[in-house]
Amino acid sequence: MSGRSVDLTMWGDFCNREGSQLQEMVERGVFPVLGVKTGRVNDFNGKCVGTISSSQLLIDPDLSEAHTLRQWFDGGGRDASTQSISRDHTPAASRNEVRTTVAKIKDDGLGMGDKPDWVTVKASIIFFKSDNFCYTACPTKEGDRQCNKKVTKGTSGLWVCDKCDKEFPECDYRYLLQLQIQDHSGTTWVTAFQETAQELLGCSALELITYKENGDPRFAETMLSCLFKDYLLRLKVKEETYSDERRVKNTLVKVERFEPAAESRYLLDLLSRSVAS
Ligand SMILES: [Zn+2]
Repeated sequence: MSGRSVDLTMWGDFCNREGSQLQEMVERGVFPVLGVKTGRVNDFNGKCVGTISSSQLLIDPDLSEAHTLRQWFDGGGRDASTQSISRDHTPAASRNEVRTTVAKIKDDGLGMGDKPDWVTVKASIIFFKSDNFCYTACPTKEGDRQCNKKVTKGTSGLWVCDKCDKEFPECDYRYLLQLQIQDHSGTTWVTAFQETAQELLGCSALELITYKENGDPRFAETMLSCLFKDYLLRLKVKEETYSDERRVKNTLVKVERFEPAAESRYLLDLLSRSVAS
């Protein structure tokens, strides 16, 4: 294995088909092998791969290379550090991000169409719902897929999963973190699931709930350390129905610390584009 990673940008229908499928898999704790056929290699400031209409994205393909990669990943590769060949100071603008503001998510009616909208906002986190930030999840694994359904404690004192019809002494804890973000234009609520919440807070849901239950000051410190700092937050915006009420839901899909130098390059890039057009 080369120990390298590469960014892949999906365009058009790929976002809502394979993209949504991949995101759901990752949110469930499944890390699929992705094969890309007929991708376009972009050579600007490091190499990236993008889809074109004739591209094919193969999720967990039945190929010997995919099985070798899976074995490597499961055998410790998932924890290996990798070097990106796509991050040579690439300004955000050239990574094809749609930058917007918190107020414009609502003003532009994002998420109301059939497909989700994917946007990036530069914002601070101003509040965490700290009383309820994770759920008790089923740890049962089928192959490399974890069930992850919410489990409850039965009368026996064991955790019960209705889906798997099994009991266990220990359950898994997975993030379902509600946070409020703010930029110069307004505030909104965002939900962060397992991977993104862990990336943001820098610790697992189990660690955080253990701090909380033990009255450990690291519980408050972990959340406080993320407040009132600038981030680039990539959001999936989609209207959903909760008990007959339709509401636009913002899901955090990627979090990056705000880097002033990178932001300056982004703004310069934006300026040069608007001057050129
Ligand atoms: Zn289960």
